[in-house]
Amino acid sequence: MNIRFLGTAAFEGIPSLFCRCELCAKAREAGGKEIRSRTSAMLGDDLKIDFPPDTFMHMVQGGLDLERIKDLIFTHSHSDHLYAEDLAARLPGYAQSAAHPIGIYANDAVLLRIKQTLDFNGGLQGKFTLNLARLFERAELQTAAVVPLPASHDPLETCLLYYIEKDGKAILYGHDSGWFPEETWAWLEDKKLDLAVLECTMGRIDYRKSHMNIEAVLETKERFEANGMLKPDARIVVTHFSHNAQLSHTDLTDIFAPHGIQVAYDGMMLEI
Ligand SMILES: [Zn+2]
Ligand SMILES: [Zn+2]
Ligand SMILES: [Zn+2]
Repeated sequence: MNIRFLGTAAFEGIPSLFCRCELCAKAREAGGKEIRSRTSAMLGDDLKIDFPPDTFMHMVQGGLDLERIKDLIFTHSHSDHLYAEDLAARLPGYAQSAAHPIGIYANDAVLLRIKQTLDFNGGLQGKFTLNLARLFERAELQTAAVVPLPASHDPLETCLLYYIEKDGKAILYGHDSGWFPEETWAWLEDKKLDLAVLECTMGRIDYRKSHMNIEAVLETKERFEANGMLKPDARIVVTHFSHNAQLSHTDLTDIFAPHGIQVAYDGMMLEI
């Protein structure tokens, strides 16, 4: 199975809109892997995680056929993960889309936002189904089995991490989150992972409450290892970077490569 990292930045993107910081200036000049759009990933070509405002660009640059998506799962409702207005583009009048409904699986905050947005455009019209994710409850979706786990992120919302089983592989999609809540660790502890996707929004900044820094990523890896949670060929990938951390793709690679952790970039494809 393959995973494709469509976007790898935190909310602001890199370079950030309006920003004149050193990293953003360098990114504008260098282009390539230094340009990061808002986070989303595809597992195979039929399961998408999050729907950020950069989806149009992801589709064009990655040659994606969004009509192959059967399941669309959401981590939370922050604007870098959910741009509900563009989901209306699948409705009659905006697209000659296929007959199948895309199954949306998310917390109530996300579902409500999507429902309200689509209601302004005539409702779901058979193009989407809305399904409520319940913490620790396994759901058999069309393309994968998923278990939503509590993140440590926005205290006003049930932000979700996902344990995903797809095509015989086990994946932890671990952001947005600071150091995982103990109840999440307790549930994960006996799982064997092929891939863990973690975030490193904060870089070297001393903070790990609602986002992770480098230290928290490395300690998370140590705890995976101590619990025997990594299969022999397991991969750990970091993503969701902020310009505020002032670390280029090269800097991040230099930091994480010695620990066997891969640094995602926009468009990166991994076979697991
Ligand atoms: Zn985010
Ligand atoms: Zn900046
Ligand atoms: Zn967030």
